[in-house]
Amino acid sequence: MYLKSIRSQGFKSFADKIDLEINPGITGIVGPNGSGKSNIVDAVRWVLGEQSVKSLRSSSMSDVIFNGSASREAQKRAMVALTFDNRDHYLNSDFAEVEVKRVVYRTGENEYYLNNTRVRLKDITDLFIESGTGMGAFNIISQGNVTDIVNGKSTDRRVIIESAARVLKYKKRKEESLHKLAKTEENLLRINLIIQELKTTVEPLAIESAKAQKYTAIKDDLESLDIALMCEDIATLNETYQTTKGEIDLLKSQTENYTKSLTESKLEKLKLTSLSVEDKINTLREKLLDLTKKLSNLDNEKRLTIERQKYMVDSPKIDESLVALKEAQLNLAKNIAVIEQEMVSLKEERAQKHAKYEEITNTLFKLKVEKDKYQSTLANKNKESLMLQNKIEILTNNINNESSSPLAVRNVLANPRLKGIHEPVGNLVKTTDQYLVALDTALGNSKNYIVVTDEDAAIGAINYLKENRLGRATFLPLNIIGPRNIPKDILQKVQNIAGYIGPLNELVTCDEAYQNIIDNQLGNVIVTKDALAMKAIGKLLNHKYRLVSLEGEMQNVGGSLTGGISKVNNIIYEKAELNKLKESFRLMQTEIAELNDKLEAVTSKITAAEAESSALIKEDLTLKENLAIKEETLKEYTKTKEEKESELVGLESWQNNELDKKLDTLLAEINLVTQEETLTEKEMQKLTQEKNDLGDEINILEKQVKEANALINSKLNDLKTKEVLLGKTEVKLDNLLKDLNEEYNLTYDYAAANYTLTMDANMAREKVNTLKKELQKIGEVNLGSIAEYERLNTRYEFLQHQKDDLEKASSELKQIITEMDEIMIQKFAKTFAQVEKEFSRIFTLMFKGGQGKLVLTDANDLLNTGIDIIAIPPGKKIASPLALSGGEKALTAICLLFAILEINPAPFIILDEAEAALDEANVDMFGKYLNKEKSKSQFIVITHKKRMMEY
Ligand code: ATP
Repeated sequence: MYLKSIRSQGFKSFADKIDLEINPGITGIVGPNGSGKSNIVDAVRWVLGEQSVKSLRSSSMSDVIFNGSASREAQKRAMVALTFDNRDHYLNSDFAEVEVKRVVYRTGENEYYLNNTRVRLKDITDLFIESGTGMGAFNIISQGNVTDIVNGKSTDRRVIIESAARVLKYKKRKEESLHKLAKTEENLLRINLIIQELKTTVEPLAIESAKAQKYTAIKDDLESLDIALMCEDIATLNETYQTTKGEIDLLKSQTENYTKSLTESKLEKLKLTSLSVEDKINTLREKLLDLTKKLSNLDNEKRLTIERQKYMVDSPKIDESLVALKEAQLNLAKNIAVIEQEMVSLKEERAQKHAKYEEITNTLFKLKVEKDKYQSTLANKNKESLMLQNKIEILTNNINNESSSPLAVRNVLANPRLKGIHEPVGNLVKTTDQYLVALDTALGNSKNYIVVTDEDAAIGAINYLKENRLGRATFLPLNIIGPRNIPKDILQKVQNIAGYIGPLNELVTCDEAYQNIIDNQLGNVIVTKDALAMKAIGKLLNHKYRLVSLEGEMQNVGGSLTGGISKVNNIIYEKAELNKLKESFRLMQTEIAELNDKLEAVTSKITAAEAESSALIKEDLTLKENLAIKEETLKEYTKTKEEKESELVGLESWQNNELDKKLDTLLAEINLVTQEETLTEKEMQKLTQEKNDLGDEINILEKQVKEANALINSKLNDLKTKEVLLGKTEVKLDNLLKDLNEEYNLTYDYAAANYTLTMDANMAREKVNTLKKELQKIGEVNLGSIAEYERLNTRYEFLQHQKDDLEKASSELKQIITEMDEIMIQKFAKTFAQVEKEFSRIFTLMFKGGQGKLVLTDANDLLNTGIDIIAIPPGKKIASPLALSGGEKALTAICLLFAILEINPAPFIILDEAEAALDEANVDMFGKYLNKEKSKSQFIVITHKKRMMEY
């Protein structure tokens, strides 16, 4: 490398542009005093970054700009450019030629360029320091300061060795590292203070936050478990409620029936009859007593009359056999009368039985008809019930499988890995039966639009559909979809039109969370009663809104109409239908139970009637037999009586006797009384039998009543218990629904669809209690501490991390500094030894004897040691080099320069009158030496010496 040219304009005395071409070897710059030779040296120093105005012989940096002369005006800028031949790439640059340029303006602005690219001063100093051509070293010896090398401080001289040892770049790097280290330590100190302060807040906050986190985790667990359990309980209670209600209905109808069929009134009637029968028996008993008395009197009179006849002389004797015959005849007549009476009774009894039989047969027929009716109704109901059950099963399956949704929708809903998926719109909205068709029509395909939490959830689901080729679906992100509605003034315009019903979103219900979605889908749809109203309203609104009628006609925006029959097959219908079917099924079960009861009742009535009927037949047979026997006896009696009568006819005389007449009358009377007595006895017997029968019947009925009452009482008790249970269940249900709403702000439908119990309910209840206890144990927590701790801890960790980084950087810097120190010490020691040796040799050579030496001021501190020069010219005894003459000092300095050049030749050296103080012979020696060295280094020499000029 060598300096190829110096260009300048406006620098110091160079008002005009100068362009000096310099060749390798020795270049002399000569001219009279003040011609600007030293300004060239200044120019070179200036370009290479000299910042000391003193070194540049100026009072300020802008002083270097040409400041005018008698004939020229001052200039605004100074420019100097040095071009180096860098074919050997001595400078660390890819260019074969390197131009370094500096420009300064009067305003004080400085600009630096490397090959016309604007750079920083540092880039230029780095380029030269890296190559070893350090500034301020020995390359440029300015006018007059050659003796400064000898006169200067020992520490300044070490720079010459450092430059030769090429450690300036390490020194510079060390300085940079030390600067960085200082900054790092300062930052470390600052960070440590902040960390200490932060620690006092973060540590207690960490405990608080952990507590709050534990609390939140338990609360989350508790919440989902509690909700799921509540849903399970609600479902179970609802089932109990429905079943109990059905049972109560049944018990009510049963107890009502029992009350009606009570046999108590019949029992009372029977008891009354029994009493009247007993009265009759008593009357008969008294009559019988009278008759017996009367008979005994008549018997006495009869005996007296016979006795008297015996003792009356004139009266004929009473034929005893005649009396006996008469008595027998009368007795037979009496028996005949009794039998005849009995036969009349038996016949009456038979007639009664016949009538009763007739009645029972009629009743039985009616009961059988009734039974047939119940049986066929029941068979129909059972069939219907089975069909309902089938329908419920199919519909439930449909709903569970979402079979009315498209494949894509079903797949998205069934994939548990997809996050943020809610429900299809159709599942979220409910309405009463009357609006179902309108709702279904208005929703159309959008009932299958899936509601999602946000766009990410939608994109996740869409990617899943794409990857698996499952079709398309539409998603409604909750965070984006906003409500739509029809302005009030527009609604006012049409609300009085006949058949106007209202905006559809106001006729449906949904969970509050989905209100925006439902308003978006249904808020701009008006429901009308029929197509006629639709037409009128549509016209009034200029067909700007969608209209649907209750029958399912639809007028789209713009006026197009849609109608006809659609396949009613969607979730809304299915769910409403399912509820209806379930209610019908429940009612059907109650009806069937009631029918079964009725059937049972009628069957038992039939059985009883049939038993009674066959008993009547049997009784009639007995009566018939009795009648036949009586008939036979009557015949016998009548025959015997006739025989006795013809016997009597033979005894005529008997007829004319007065006494006999009396006796005859007596006998007839006795016979009559006896007949009445027998009849009365028979009547009494019959009534007693009747009374006994009534007693038996009463006993049976009493037992039945008792049993029936016991049954009713048990049913009534049952009813009471069930009613209490129903009430309790209702209260529990209400409370649970209220709790679900108040504690978790959830509707049952939403909760049931989103929270499922995955364990046994009892276990879940136990776990809920345990979790609640745990929460209680934790006590009060500061939930805000979680976020606060996260925030502060992030900062704390960040600072810790920074601290670690700084500590690492600090130790790395220290390591680098130590390494650089080692390199510098080693290089310095080596170079010093070489230079010192060379200096001694050259000194003796130049001074033709004497002694020149370089000595370290502190050999133990090679990084800081100064260098003293011991220079003793031949034959002299000098204590300090300061005592040398000007020429001796200059020669000593030149010796040092030569020694350095021997060890480490510099690419170019500028010497500004360095030899000024030398005598002729020494100038010659100096010139010769330069001549010898010019192939190793480029010399630019400013001189006034002719001898030097010759060289
Ligand atoms: P000597 O032989 O005496 O050392 P020299 O050739 O080295 O002389 P310089 O010291 O280079 O001369 O030049 C000094 C001259 O430059 C002075 O005449 C001075 O007026 C002139 N000079 C210095 N600064 C400026 C400036 N800013 N504008 C104009 N001229 C300047």
